[in-house]
Amino acid sequence: LVPAGLAAGVMLSLAILYLARLQMALPYAVKNALRRHELFLEYQPVVDLATGAWMGVEALVRWRRPTGEIVMPDLFIPIAEQNALIVRLTRQVLDRVCRDTGFYLEMHPDFHIGINVAPADFHSPGFVEHLEETLGRMGARPSNLILEVTERGLLDPVVARQTSGALRRLGFALAIDDFGTGYSSLSYLESLELDFLKIDRSFIEAIGTGAPTSQVVGHIIRMAKDLGLRMIAEGVESHAQADFLRAQGVQYGQGWLFGRPMSFVEVVRRMEEMARA
Ligand code: C2E
Ligand code: CA
Ligand code: CA
Ligand code: CA
Repeated sequence: LVPAGLAAGVMLSLAILYLARLQMALPYAVKNALRRHELFLEYQPVVDLATGAWMGVEALVRWRRPTGEIVMPDLFIPIAEQNALIVRLTRQVLDRVCRDTGFYLEMHPDFHIGINVAPADFHSPGFVEHLEETLGRMGARPSNLILEVTERGLLDPVVARQTSGALRRLGFALAIDDFGTGYSSLSYLESLELDFLKIDRSFIEAIGTGAPTSQVVGHIIRMAKDLGLRMIAEGVESHAQADFLRAQGVQYGQGWLFGRPMSFVEVVRRMEEMARA
């Protein structure tokens, strides 16, 4: 009989070996996914809290493996970021957005597509030119795009200010994403030229719970107002949360209450349905 401790030790080593192999294999797998164009996008509505109208959608990337399995971005975006694959990934996402939505944006100048931009994109040369070129191809305007950048992405304040200024002058809208979860916060908000502030889901979750963090959302809202930023609340799941946010003067909401991520074909179908109603 093998002593239980030894067996557990062997199992643990095997598990660690397996994870280590997975860790090594993943960057290759992500690189292959890019080469084989296995990424696709889903689009989640962003809703005007006062009227219920859709002001736009956020593009969210997914990876369909050859096996048919769908991998969510939280699993592969960090790997792409660590392995300098993210710039290529963002370009593919932009091209996808262009192909999925170009025909629609041409006819709907006020519809917004939120695109997640990683730290490295923001700092990579040619990023702004590629954006402009892609938009030209899709017959859309810069104002159709909201570039969502996390605080983490703005670590170098000089570059951040330059790039954000250049993008703003070209007419792109800029959002600070996951607000309240990063390191930098206030100093950046003042120096950057922003249009939107996305309040992170963790603060929306806390609304009405009486938890210490439930007070934070009120502070964020007051600050965004002082800075003249429009707000988008993330992860709105209940009517109580939506009511609270509306009463506090938050303009936009995104979350399962309004719609899960879906194909762009489905987005267009819903928009047409609402236009008829
Ligand atoms: P994010 O930018 O904060 O995007 C919102 C995430 O919250 C999405 O997860 C969305 O499906 C989820 N969500 C939306 N409403 C609700 C809700 O009511 N309840 C809950 N529990 N969740 C909700 P997803 O699609 O898994 O994306 C995760 C993250 O991956 C995104 O967070 C973003 O940081 C990153 N990501 C997604 N697509 C891209 C991309 O194209 N490029 C880059 N660089 N990052 C991306
Ligand atoms: Ca986002
Ligand atoms: Ca976010
Ligand atoms: Ca978030």
